[in-house]
Amino acid sequence: MARAARYGVLGWPVAHSRSPAMMTAAGLDYQRLPVAPELLAETVRALPAAGFAGANVTIPHKEAALGLADTASPAARAIGAANTLVFAPDGAIHAENTDAPGLIVVLGEPVPASALVLGAGGSARAAVWALRAAGADVAVWNRTPARAATLGARTVSEAEPSDVLVNCTSVGLDDSSSPFVDLPLDAGALGRYPLVVDLVYRSAGTELILEARRLGARTVDGLDVLVAQGALSYTAWTGRPAPLEAMRAAVRDAGG
Ligand code: NAP
Repeated sequence: MARAARYGVLGWPVAHSRSPAMMTAAGLDYQRLPVAPELLAETVRALPAAGFAGANVTIPHKEAALGLADTASPAARAIGAANTLVFAPDGAIHAENTDAPGLIVVLGEPVPASALVLGAGGSARAAVWALRAAGADVAVWNRTPARAATLGARTVSEAEPSDVLVNCTSVGLDDSSSPFVDLPLDAGALGRYPLVVDLVYRSAGTELILEARRLGARTVDGLDVLVAQGALSYTAWTGRPAPLEAMRAAVRDAGG
């Protein structure tokens, strides 16, 4: 009997990733693939022959992965980054970006009419593209304003009210930074956002999510976002709907 297809996550480093726990719980043969940037191209080209049918891509390889693909989805092209590669039996590489549609899935219907995105790195680029493509009026704030100006949305120098606040900075990842010190947010003013999304995740919940919940906002944490993009990758590889509950349980358990 033919061996089941293999999958993995390419990153450098990749030890922190919860994708292996999530995708293994979904029933895939899935592993960490720590690959230094200078070895990415040759590694990716070798994966199909080693039995891999697809891979996720994380920091710092998302832009380079798009460049290695033979074909790419319109979202991946427009964002300039791929988080999912699909390998055809002949070794052809197709690039997808499921970060963007994954965010729209977790926001639910109707898509918010206005959004404030904090950050201008890779995840902010995908979020801004997704929200604008869905018809939202998007404002971007970033610590380094010149980077915000490259995202194609309106830039702002302070936080303005909107239907959804999306934190795409790494602020709040650990105790070295706080959303109410490093971002233009007053805890008391969080009530201006009926929906708060934090791409950052911590096992006990981030300061931003905990405060937003306390004020009665609907919240979506980084683990929900991780599962949403992972579910779309799973479907791109297998053609089947993802086992969402198993994936959610696995990412929450993976943090200990
Ligand atoms: P990135 O490309 O490195 O961008 C980092 C962003 O954070 C930049 O806008 C940077 O501002 C800002 N920043 C960093 N430290 C800051 C501080 N002390 N004060 C204010 N701004 C600060 O990272 P990324 O790929 O966009 O990811 C951002 C975060 O989202 C990471 O924590 C990552 O783990 C998380 N993430 C989660 C998911 C998920 O599925 N849940 C997916 C992707 C990313 P400057 O431009 O001024 O440096």
